[in-house]
Amino acid sequence: MVPTDSTLLMLRLLLRLEKNDISITPLSKEDPQIRTFNDLMSHTEDIKGDPKRTEQFVKMCVALQQFVGDQLKVPTTELLEIFGKMIINSFSICSGEMQPIGAGVYLSPSILDHSCCPNATTVFDGNKLYVRAVEDIGDISEVRVSYIDQLATTSERKQQLMEQYYFTCNCVMCRDKQRDQKLSSLRCPTTGCDGVVSQNHDGVQHTCLVCGKDTFSEEYLSKCSSSSADAEQILKKIAEAKKEKDFKMVLELSGHCLSEVSDHLHPMHILMIRLHDSAFDACIELQKWDLALVYASKTTEAYREFYAAYHPNLGIHLMKIGKMQQYLKQIEPALKNLQQAEDILHVSHGKSHSLCQDLKILLKQCEEELRIQQGRT
Ligand SMILES: [Zn+2]
Ligand SMILES: [Zn+2]
Repeated sequence: MVPTDSTLLMLRLLLRLEKNDISITPLSKEDPQIRTFNDLMSHTEDIKGDPKRTEQFVKMCVALQQFVGDQLKVPTTELLEIFGKMIINSFSICSGEMQPIGAGVYLSPSILDHSCCPNATTVFDGNKLYVRAVEDIGDISEVRVSYIDQLATTSERKQQLMEQYYFTCNCVMCRDKQRDQKLSSLRCPTTGCDGVVSQNHDGVQHTCLVCGKDTFSEEYLSKCSSSSADAEQILKKIAEAKKEKDFKMVLELSGHCLSEVSDHLHPMHILMIRLHDSAFDACIELQKWDLALVYASKTTEAYREFYAAYHPNLGIHLMKIGKMQQYLKQIEPALKNLQQAEDILHVSHGKSHSLCQDLKILLKQCEEELRIQQGRT
């Protein structure tokens, strides 16, 4: 049996707590506040009242027992305390490309509050975590990071924050009804119009933002709602196929569903974004670069709309597109995307981050290839 990231993290924590070896680094020179693992909130009562979390805890205890056996001398109540502190305060350690590769508890940044529209971002270089400002921030007490992916509707984000961190967010984005309306954009049925039909939050009033059409047939509206119900179902199947690493199935499911629903759902619709992203990821796994590029380009507009200007995911998205374009010898657009990626990643990751170093090399190669191409003509 392979231990999960959180079981491994728990084992490491138990070992270090036993040796009293939890190192603490203040967040910055201006913030000398020293925190120890014992200072963290454990939310044990919330966990006890949460069947999913309780099950997770029980499973972890069983796994720990299997790995450590009788050497595990910590009483269950204490284990639950440690477990609570760990899951609420742990960061998913990501590669430079923001793919999760492990988990860790970082005491200093765990002091930072959440906002769905944060002014700072957390990035890893190896297992070192950096908190980087993406906006001008007056005082360290104003630093906000996002605990979750912001590419989700308000109700999804609120649910995730409550389930994982036991609080209700009321940030600017959580009060932004327009953003949620955009995330449920429909495609205008007028021939020749590719406009977005936005719907208000209870789905009653619809208007095309391009041609101004504001009356829609019952048939169109019912097809729109059945399309989103279908897409939701298929995304569940896609999640299963992803777990099985069956990327052929992921591509088949997402490709087929997209062809069924794209007459009614606009690419800005959250379910369309997820379908395109799934198809893109599957293409990368299957090394279908041409098709990957098609799917990636479908989400760029949505990424720009729904992520902040210096969000790492936007930078990484543009870098991936640029990389594929370079591979497919589309050098001019590659250069443009890589330059835009660089502008973002210099802020979100920092110039010295290994990802920015890789990007620098890619840019140099592209410039060189462009010179050769232009020399030929
Ligand atoms: Zn929020
Ligand atoms: Zn229209």
